[in-house]
Amino acid sequence: MTAPMHDAEPIRVTVAPALDYFEKCPRCGYPAEAVVTARTYADGAVDRELVATCGLPCGWKSAG
Ligand SMILES: [Zn+2]
Repeated sequence: MTAPMHDAEPIRVTVAPALDYFEKCPRCGYPAEAVVTARTYADGAVDRELVATCGLPCGWKSAG
């Protein structure tokens, strides 16, 4: 199961660059960029999600 533990909305959402992400786009081979979205909930739990996108506008995007 990959259902989220929280059914409430996060109280805070921050998006920051993933500076240690050095993968390449599987579609065109150009270095990809990634950001980490951190969602903080009222009980103090934090969910982090890394989403990578191609540095070129080829349209590739990876979630998870
Ligand atoms: Zn690409």
